[in-house]
Amino acid sequence: MIDFSNFDDIISLTTYFSNNNVCKQAIIESRWGVGEEQDVVCPYCGKHHCNHSKSGRFHCTACNKNFSCLVGTIFENTKLPLIKWFVGMYLISSHKKGISSHQLSRDIHVTQATAWYMLQKIRLLYAQSDADVFDGTVECDEVYIGGKQKWKHQSMRTPHTQGRSTATKTPVFGMMERSTIENEEGEEEPITYVHAFVVGNTNKDTLQPVIQQFVEDGSRVITDELNAYNGLSELGYTHAVVSHGAEEYANGDVFTNSIEGFWSHFRRMITGCYHDVSDEHLQQYIDEAVYRWNTRKASQTERFSDMFNKSIGLVKRWSEIRVGLMVA
Ligand SMILES: [Zn+2]
Repeated sequence: MIDFSNFDDIISLTTYFSNNNVCKQAIIESRWGVGEEQDVVCPYCGKHHCNHSKSGRFHCTACNKNFSCLVGTIFENTKLPLIKWFVGMYLISSHKKGISSHQLSRDIHVTQATAWYMLQKIRLLYAQSDADVFDGTVECDEVYIGGKQKWKHQSMRTPHTQGRSTATKTPVFGMMERSTIENEEGEEEPITYVHAFVVGNTNKDTLQPVIQQFVEDGSRVITDELNAYNGLSELGYTHAVVSHGAEEYANGDVFTNSIEGFWSHFRRMITGCYHDVSDEHLQQYIDEAVYRWNTRKASQTERFSDMFNKSIGLVKRWSEIRVGLMVA
């Protein structure tokens, strides 16, 4: 099996994955195991123990289909050498603020349109799932992203649209769990995990179901005084409110500063690298920022290993990413 901990820089990565067959072998081994233990599962019907066919592909005797190891991965039907994908995943996960399609196109020598397409596909690996449900203490907060008002000439601006307005901005809702993680010395240190989603509005009927989906019953939920959060205690949460209106930003551990740290991280990523994000793609950029935040204590090799596994359909929880590499 490949030892992903070897790939601690781009040179070791490109040296190991020197041709497409090595890349495919890595995908086969990671998906289905190696040697006696290997169990090739048909991506179409789920039958186990499919046979090798001629030409390096596989054959399923149940549904009679032939398939390559790329079927069901993000690389399916690609014409590009796989190493370009691997380097793309490596670069996007190693740069703190992400990478633009222009930069990627120069780095791996593909057209900008191809680089853009690759980045969109790779970002799909970041999609958030409710496998990571939060508990303990969870900060909830909403922000409004976009609205290119400040770039428009004064006379072109829509009146009264600065701040909280959905006329030109998109509401985004986030939840952040305050947690701890064991460091290499075996000590507990604080860590926060976040979920964030584009929402149609910030009404109670919109936000509270999201909280119920991603925050365990009985958790302590900290919010600002937005009306949408009224009634959280009736849903089984312990609800603590920080009153921004009264200029109260922290009262003991009742604050939302941690999630506000995530919002500024996200804004920096957008302005530093992507400049102009359409609403249509906003969620994917949020997913990327969320992934980066939640794996920020992981090493580069751990992040690449995790992305590689996601690219072939093996998904891990964030809290597991840091704990040991997938070497087995
Ligand atoms: Zn089959």
